[in-house]
This record gives sequence, C-alpha cells and structure tokens, in this order.
Amino acid sequence: MGTKARAIVKAKGMDVQELIKLLNKAYSDEWLAYYQYWLGAKIAVGVPKKEVAEELEDHAKEELNHAKMLAQRIIELGGVPVLEPKEWYTQSTCGYSKPKDPDVRILLEQNIKGEQCAIFVYDGLLEYTKDKDPVTYDIIREIQKQEIEHEEDLQALQRDIELFEKRK
Ligand code: FE
Ligand code: FE
Ligand code: MG
Repeated sequence: MGTKARAIVKAKGMDVQELIKLLNKAYSDEWLAYYQYWLGAKIAVGVPKKEVAEELEDHAKEELNHAKMLAQRIIELGGVPVLEPKEWYTQSTCGYSKPKDPDVRILLEQNIKGEQCAIFVYDGLLEYTKDKDPVTYDIIREIQKQEIEHEEDLQALQRDIELFEKRK
C-alpha cells in the first residue's frame, strides 16, 4: 500500500499502529494453529484416522495461507510481521494446544477450541476495521469464513464418531 492508500485509512480515524499490532497477534495465532494441525495430522490415531488426518492437513494449509494473507496486509500497512517465532507464544490470543494425546477425538476437541477462539478474534477485528479500512475488513472476512468452515468440518467429524460409537 502506498502513501496515499495509507493516508486514507488514517483519515478514517484508524489507529494504524494498533491495527498492525492486532494483525500481528492474529498472525501469531495462525502460525501456532498451522503447526498444531500439521503435527496433529501426522500423529493422529483412532477411528477414523484417515479422514481426520486429511481434514487436519487441509486446515494446516489453510491456516498457513491465513498467515500469508495477514503478513501481506501488515506489510502493506507499513508494519513488520513478527520476526521471532518465540514471540508467537507471547503475542498469540488463542495459544498453542499441545497434542499430548494423539487420539483423534482429543485432537478434534483441541482444534475445535482453537477455531472457536479464532472466530472470536476475527469478530473483534471485523468490528475494529468496519467502515474504517475496507481492504483489511475484506481480508478478515475471508479468513473468518474459513474458520467458521473449519469449526463445522471438525464438529461434523465429531458427530460421525459419536454416531459410530453409539451403534457399536
Ligand atoms: Fe486461520
Ligand atoms: Fe482455522
Ligand atoms: Mg476443511
């Protein structure tokens, strides 16, 4: 984003430095979510292992893409994406939920919590950018749409597992 585009965002009353800070927090969340999914897909055990692992792997790719979208926007706004991975932990809102039990049911539970947190974080960012920065708003809306889909995908798997267990 050039100087004029940045000036327009500022003119609408947006605190650009604060926005960059919030985007960097979400950026940290995305990297941690990416790793949580990526690793979960590798270590998953139980039934249905293949379906769960594939879904987790898909979500990992999508979280990485969210990190990319946020990094691009941070740079456009004149900011710098978090340079030090150690800071992902301190900046993150949703944190990292270590997959200490590879049981697919536990992995699903942990990742659903993460998605619910992400939906909440992006809701706040939508509120923050509404009517002030339409470009960031659209990016956040696109990301949030996928987080909502992620929650539903994982809960659908959870429902299938429950049904399967009931019929055993
Ligand atoms: Fe994400
Ligand atoms: Fe997600
Ligand atoms: Mg999915």
